[in-house]
Amino acid sequence: VAAFYLSLFMIASTSVKKVRGLATMTTSPNTKIILHWFRHGDLRLHDNPALVHSCKKLSAASKQSDTYVIPFFCFDPKAFGNDAKSDFGNLKCGPRRAKFITEAVKDLQQNLVKKGSGLLVSHGQEPHEFVSKLVKDLSSESNPSQNPQWTIVCQEEVLKEETEAVRSMQSILPPSAKVQTVWGSTMYELEDLPFGEALGDLPNTFTPFRNKVEKKCEISPPLPTPSKELKAFFPSDGTLLKSMEQYMKPEAFPSLKQLGYNEASVKEASTVDPRGVMEFIGGETAALARVEDYIFTKDRLKIYFDTRNGMLGADYSTKFSPWLAFGCVSPRWIAKECRRYEQERGIQNKSTYWVVFELLWRDYCKFFCLKHGNRVFYPNGILSGTQQQPQTPWKVYQPVLDCWKEGKTGYPLVDANMREMRATGFMSNRGRQNVCSFLCLDLQQDWRHGGDFFETHLLDYDVYSNWYNWCAGAGMTGGRVNRFNIVKQSKDYDQHGDYVRHWLPELKDVPNQFIHEPWKMSQFQQREFGVSLGVDYPHRIQTAAPPSGGRGDDPSNQKRNRGRGRTNRQGNTGNKGESSRKTNSNNR
Ligand code: FAD
Repeated sequence: VAAFYLSLFMIASTSVKKVRGLATMTTSPNTKIILHWFRHGDLRLHDNPALVHSCKKLSAASKQSDTYVIPFFCFDPKAFGNDAKSDFGNLKCGPRRAKFITEAVKDLQQNLVKKGSGLLVSHGQEPHEFVSKLVKDLSSESNPSQNPQWTIVCQEEVLKEETEAVRSMQSILPPSAKVQTVWGSTMYELEDLPFGEALGDLPNTFTPFRNKVEKKCEISPPLPTPSKELKAFFPSDGTLLKSMEQYMKPEAFPSLKQLGYNEASVKEASTVDPRGVMEFIGGETAALARVEDYIFTKDRLKIYFDTRNGMLGADYSTKFSPWLAFGCVSPRWIAKECRRYEQERGIQNKSTYWVVFELLWRDYCKFFCLKHGNRVFYPNGILSGTQQQPQTPWKVYQPVLDCWKEGKTGYPLVDANMREMRATGFMSNRGRQNVCSFLCLDLQQDWRHGGDFFETHLLDYDVYSNWYNWCAGAGMTGGRVNRFNIVKQSKDYDQHGDYVRHWLPELKDVPNQFIHEPWKMSQFQQREFGVSLGVDYPHRIQTAAPPSGGRGDDPSNQKRNRGRGRTNRQGNTGNKGESSRKTNSNNR
């Protein structure tokens, strides 16, 4: 850590020293300043459409005017720290993810500095407050009649908080200034999609979307990493304003404490649970290394299809998601690397296709949210206001929600997964589908409490992937409802109970026969296997409609299950203290 700071300080102080002779930047009406706003979803230099857009503006403008590009990142106090809470009372960003993001921003700053540019990093003020101050500071250096022209460039996001941040930004800028948003973060280009304006005819289910896109569209190659353009970002004579310097010094980079996390949270973030799948370090450098490692060094791509439903270990799936969520790696880069693997190794099979297929799911989440907007946060999702809108409101019963959150439902697969997420910030896709189905369809609790809890804890939290998957899992996107039979899933995907024993040490001596159904043990067997139900491990929670030994997510069962989650809401999860969110307000 010390070495990292020292190197960063040396690089940063060189750039500051170079410019010390000039305390101010001379501006004229011909001076153009592009503030390049890195946000959560694009923390990288490679294949970054918004960054390339800023570079193009710079190249196009430099002949007639002085043009500078100033990259910045803001740790928004509305998102970070123990006081930043959601409407459901959970932290907006748990400390583990906050640590991952700080690492990603530090890596971005270092990479920009190495290329002759830099990154202003602010905390304790919202992005628009920071920019307002910066614009004022930079403008006050010059004659008011010579104010520079401002543009803000950033990646386009499509949901509430993200679009509000852009609106707030626009509202504080001088009237002549513009915020330009550039589409990014998806593997397929928005403009290439074969769907009408604003994606009006985007299918509400994945398969027809996939069929059309795969038939009609190509995945573009990744955009090149800017190089000489980045050198020209800051004033070419080396001028760097005093008002910017304060945001570039290594000591100005916020610690978790400065981001508002208390001692316990800081400790939580710095504790690596040895039971976790792997250690995740934020940033483009670590992201590209993981892609290389998974695909080429460990040679796992060729078996991805067969291993992807695992739950133990680093390599059953790619684990690219935390880096993808913050844009440390682009999906097009991964798609290109999969193609390169196929060509170089001469292997092309279902597995080498399937990672790109999963990335298409990721694309679909963002496109779906673009089409339906904030309805993915409504209790009835996109069914709100339609004939399919369910009549029974969701239940909200705190003791039940707490059991689920704490991994104390008495269903070992659910509990193990919830405990893994709390301890490490990660959960497999298999786990996520099961705990989601269990909360919404078996316990019949308001799914948004689940989505919000995931938002706090997941390292790879991504607003589109998370809220789309929850909305769909709860049956609120109009697609088929996939109700998982937890016991069957446990036996199919954790046949010998290794995963459950890994996270539930109290069940370590329970034999395979009972590991997924501990409630079947007699008192005598409980004593024999060293676990007393209700004391060491909970009795199983009552579900509204226990699955009838069905076939889990077997497609032949999906038809039968269709809609069941909606109609059968009068179960016995306990009515005391129950309350419902009846409104369709966006209560995110
Ligand atoms: P792999 O199996 O290796 O897949 C490769 C990549 O494909 C992933 O990194 C991811 O970017 C993408 N992908 C795979 N499955 C999905 C999917 N169902 N939806 C969208 N993208 C997918 N993923 C997130 O990145 N952030 C979230 O906040 C998130 N919340 C989820 C909530 C629920 C209820 C469910 C069911 C799924 C959620 N997912 C989310 C999707 C998926 O579970 C994770 O992307 C995956 O488990 C990450 O592990 P991996 O990178 O090893 O995935």
